[in-house]
Amino acid sequence: MAKLRFILGDHLSRSVAALRDIDPAIDVVLMAEVGSESTVVGFHKQKLVFIYSAMRHFAEELRAEGIRVDYVRLDAEGNTQHLEGELARALARHRVAGVVVTEPGAFRVRDIMNGWSERLGIPVDIREDDRFVCSHDRFASWAGDRKSLRMEFFYREMRRLTGFLMQGESPDGGQWNFDVDNRESLPPDYQPPKRLRLEPDTTTREVIDLVRSRYGKNFGDLEPFEWAVTRSGALDALDHFIAEALPGFGTYQDAMKTGEPFLHHGLVSPYLNVGLLTAAEVCAAAERAYLEGHAPLNAVEGFIRQIIGWREYIRGVYWLKMPEYAQTNELEAHRDLPWFYWSGNTRMNCMAQAIGDTSRHAYAHHIQRLMVTGNFALLAGIEPAQIEYWYLAVYIDAFDWVELPNVHGMVMFADGGLLASKPYVASGAYINRMSDYCGNCFYSPKIKEGERACPFTLLYWHFLIENRPKLGGNRRLAMPYRNLDRMDDRQRGLIGMQARAFLNGLSATTDEEPEPQL
Ligand code: FAD
Ligand code: SF4
Repeated sequence: MAKLRFILGDHLSRSVAALRDIDPAIDVVLMAEVGSESTVVGFHKQKLVFIYSAMRHFAEELRAEGIRVDYVRLDAEGNTQHLEGELARALARHRVAGVVVTEPGAFRVRDIMNGWSERLGIPVDIREDDRFVCSHDRFASWAGDRKSLRMEFFYREMRRLTGFLMQGESPDGGQWNFDVDNRESLPPDYQPPKRLRLEPDTTTREVIDLVRSRYGKNFGDLEPFEWAVTRSGALDALDHFIAEALPGFGTYQDAMKTGEPFLHHGLVSPYLNVGLLTAAEVCAAAERAYLEGHAPLNAVEGFIRQIIGWREYIRGVYWLKMPEYAQTNELEAHRDLPWFYWSGNTRMNCMAQAIGDTSRHAYAHHIQRLMVTGNFALLAGIEPAQIEYWYLAVYIDAFDWVELPNVHGMVMFADGGLLASKPYVASGAYINRMSDYCGNCFYSPKIKEGERACPFTLLYWHFLIENRPKLGGNRRLAMPYRNLDRMDDRQRGLIGMQARAFLNGLSATTDEEPEPQL
């Protein structure tokens, strides 16, 4: 009997579970552009273009294979703008015995999907998304009843499971992790590799016009749009990364530079997350570069760790711990998100640069996300749900399963240390060491008092003072607390007063920025 195969916007892989046993003679694929999914948080315009254009191209590729595709465009007459509504309408158009779908990437959608069969009166086969290296069961059995889930140990299991960079049971180079070699800042005048720029085709141009007319007020620049929207474009982007950027990936992984948002990063997360590339092929390409002598081990191990380590681990935590996970707020952070996260209009140059890159490209690299915009949110005590909303909206690669644990756990420490063994906090000195931002800033990381004192440094010490009851016993924070204790009462008092003055002046509705002055 015929089946309706429902393909969501991040299921654009020919190998996705819902397509695996398709019978092109009788089955129909349903794809629907729905506004409810794209306006949940008012997404960056380029993110909308990327998803809709990639969906349209994928539908064409299936049709070219002889598969019947029922495609509902965003502006199609009668579009209900939500997944269940479009499924119900499609069931009225097609005589099928059942629906096949791959599990979605958001708990919220999965919850709705669980009720489809009963509400729509038809069997719905929800299949596990097996495009990942680690299944839900495998992750759950690894997690067992461990109190904290450390990525490093999980990663070693994934190395053994996949065989990447392994010599029998031992890791290549005799070490699992080469992170100590991967913390260099960029030499002055360093010229990083250029990004592969892909020109929008006719389909993408049509989607750009659609997004301009419907979502013109959303965050971020619409053009230039330079992301790939097909599998072949994504493969070109991968080849370009391996040839040009991978060799320096490890060494400069944590560096930041004005006007250079991409540096040696892969730019593969959007393609991995919607299914244009698979984790296994991306890692295999990197491993090949190492075996052929094109890229050093610290770069290749670092890159593969991000994918079979961090990416898989983050996903495992999400599905293991949701929905309770999203509700925790260990540090009782309740401040509203300052407006400059949307406008980019702040005198903190590091924040202005990271937000500006985000607005221009729907992208910022990991350290900008973690140690600039994330670090500030943690130090300023922003409410986790508000900063999660921002990350989900602004990044082209943001889907709930990957964005939420990164922000909730890794950035905000809202899970009390399940994911990170200590809060990732840093003062202006760290940002100064890893970037060229401070040289052009109104503030200075070296000034401790008065209107030019770096807010990151003030808030860093203030955070340690305020959270001492909860964090004072954390062994990984022993050194910062020892340094805090070396300060005299006057210094600590001054920090508190300046930091409070700065925080009290933050506005969720305007760009006005307080000075950390007394
Ligand atoms: P590279 O630096 O080249 O890394 C290679 C790949 O490793 C990435 O493409 C990605 O697939 C994977 N990876 C690396 N770190 C992580 C991680 N912590 N979690 C999951 N995958 C990882 N990644 C997303 O894909 N979507 C998100 O919504 C997202 N939100 C983030 C929010 C915060 C606060 C932080 C700190 C990190 C977030 N990340 C997210 C992880 C990481 O920043 C991005 O994957 C990376 O910047 C994507 O760019 P790239 O492909 O150039 O990555
Ligand atoms: Fe950021 Fe402080 Fe450096 Fe300015 S001085 S760029 S606020 S870290």
